[in-house]
Amino acid sequence: MAIPEYFSKTYAEARRKFLDAARAGGAVLESHVHPSARGAEGEELAVDVARFGDRDAENLFVVISGTHGNEGFCGSACQTGMIGEGVVAARPQTVAVLLIHAVNPYGFSHIRRVTEDNVDLNRNFQDFSRPLPENARYAEIHDALVPADWDGPARAPAEEALAAWRDANGGIKAYQAVVAGGQYAFPDGFFFGGRRPTWSNATFRAIIESHGRAAKRVAVVDIHTGLGPRGYGEPLSLVPPDALGFKRARAWWGDEVTSILDGTSKSPPVAGPLIGCVGERLPDAEITAIGLEYGTVELSEVLEAIRGDNWLYARGLGSGLSMESRLARDIKARVRDALAVDADDWKEQVFARAADFSLKAYRGLTG
Ligand SMILES: [Zn+2]
Repeated sequence: MAIPEYFSKTYAEARRKFLDAARAGGAVLESHVHPSARGAEGEELAVDVARFGDRDAENLFVVISGTHGNEGFCGSACQTGMIGEGVVAARPQTVAVLLIHAVNPYGFSHIRRVTEDNVDLNRNFQDFSRPLPENARYAEIHDALVPADWDGPARAPAEEALAAWRDANGGIKAYQAVVAGGQYAFPDGFFFGGRRPTWSNATFRAIIESHGRAAKRVAVVDIHTGLGPRGYGEPLSLVPPDALGFKRARAWWGDEVTSILDGTSKSPPVAGPLIGCVGERLPDAEITAIGLEYGTVELSEVLEAIRGDNWLYARGLGSGLSMESRLARDIKARVRDALAVDADDWKEQVFARAADFSLKAYRGLTG
């Protein structure tokens, strides 16, 4: 199959392709169906899990898609392509492969970054019994980020306020760090981490505990889009450069591996990331985990597209704007295009790297 054919236009299509490929590839499948939320076309939403290899394998390679909803168009295609193109079948006998498809299926289907409760799942893995991280600087710009209207009189002053804030605080990098770092004070805001574990969080933890029980070594690749040069996949580690997990990631995947904690990554430090919980759930296993972050379009465009989508649900739909309106459809098209590039060269590039990283993970796990 030509690589671009692994990519889909909707969540439902992506899910069907993934399940068909997994069945044809001999996977053991399980589906964690969302108990209440439905998809954009009224369809069932689920986290689907395809396992290849022994249940008691010592080595486990986990690939995750859709942590950020519609970023899953890329991750899902990589997973389905891994099955279809023989990457899963190329695993050594002592390695099991676990593909976790659409860990945030609501966001995938509705073309949103967030879950059904407006939570950024990659900021939601917190100990909610303890005080949550504070992001006081976010409070300075929340009102401008989520103005009363998007195409009316409130918009221009909001843009002026944001531009003035960026000028006074170090430009787009500082802006990115403040808005994308995560916040816990504004439930209708940008990059909101939640007040409790979301359904996707609880589901992911249960999957990791159940499938990781026997593993001594676990490699994790969580596929994202939206940061960095077009088509390039930045392998980013969430642990500091002096940690063993970082050193292993470098040894397995090369010197391109960055840490989000020392300024070498396109991603700022983030609170409560999903892959951070793997080590907590599997304390006896050696964990080597990265996010694989594929570039799409300019950072400013990515942030504006997500901001528009946040505005649509926080302000627009609640004040009578229809999802069928021109404005709503423009916002949805923009956020879709900002997180997945509809071009064959991009699709071939991202899949080739995912395949290469999988083979390197096999070598690392068994080396
Ligand atoms: Zn992401």
